[in-house]
Amino acid sequence: MITTERDREPSPSLEVCPVCGNDRFMNQPVLWPELIEQWELSPDEVNYINLQQGFCCTSCKNNLRSMTLAAAVTNAFGFAGSFKDFCLNHPGIRQLTVIEINPAKNLSPFLQVLPKRALHSFPQFDMQRMSFADALIDVIIHSDTLEHVPDSRAALAECRRVLKPGGHLFYTVPIVIGRLTRARRGLPPSYHGMPGANQEDCIVQTEYGADFWCEIFEAGFREVRLTSLMFPASVAIHAIKT
Ligand SMILES: [Zn+2]
Repeated sequence: MITTERDREPSPSLEVCPVCGNDRFMNQPVLWPELIEQWELSPDEVNYINLQQGFCCTSCKNNLRSMTLAAAVTNAFGFAGSFKDFCLNHPGIRQLTVIEINPAKNLSPFLQVLPKRALHSFPQFDMQRMSFADALIDVIIHSDTLEHVPDSRAALAECRRVLKPGGHLFYTVPIVIGRLTRARRGLPPSYHGMPGANQEDCIVQTEYGADFWCEIFEAGFREVRLTSLMFPASVAIHAIKT
């Protein structure tokens, strides 16, 4: 039997979960044939998107995308411990106004302990025209929501408008890194969420590619940092209002 370099690659893993500090993980593929076909994904792309959404901590159940988002937040504040400890104990975040747009999956229970955190649900909460005054919010978090917003650039510009100077936006979107971003306008409808659910708020407006960062600058941000725990399976975006 011939062993290739690829066969010798270890299974993907992390030392510890950045959310809760646990060191055990499981991997459950989440993509289904219809979505793979609509998204026109290659086998490699299927593998890394399955990791992004289905590689989970066995304790807190956060997936790679949420773990990466958590790491982006703690990195931004120079905190070396878990996201759980950060939310419970770090004065730097506990005094800030935090809004979560749609629950950030299993990160949400950890964010709930923050004294000034509020949850807003898309699409009832219009990300393109937020009901906040200018420069009111310290931190905005959303996870795999922007790809469902009809005008994602307007949504990012709104995030920037409502952030205080020095405020932070943290988010994720699904990214297929080997291609360019495309709008699904004019293509058959494609839905995330559960197979066959086809809810209108899960309809995909934008499929992000390697140029995902362009619209952040087009929306007016001038400082952007990326965090990846496994590239290209996970990238979290941190934009700062300078
Ligand atoms: Zn965990």
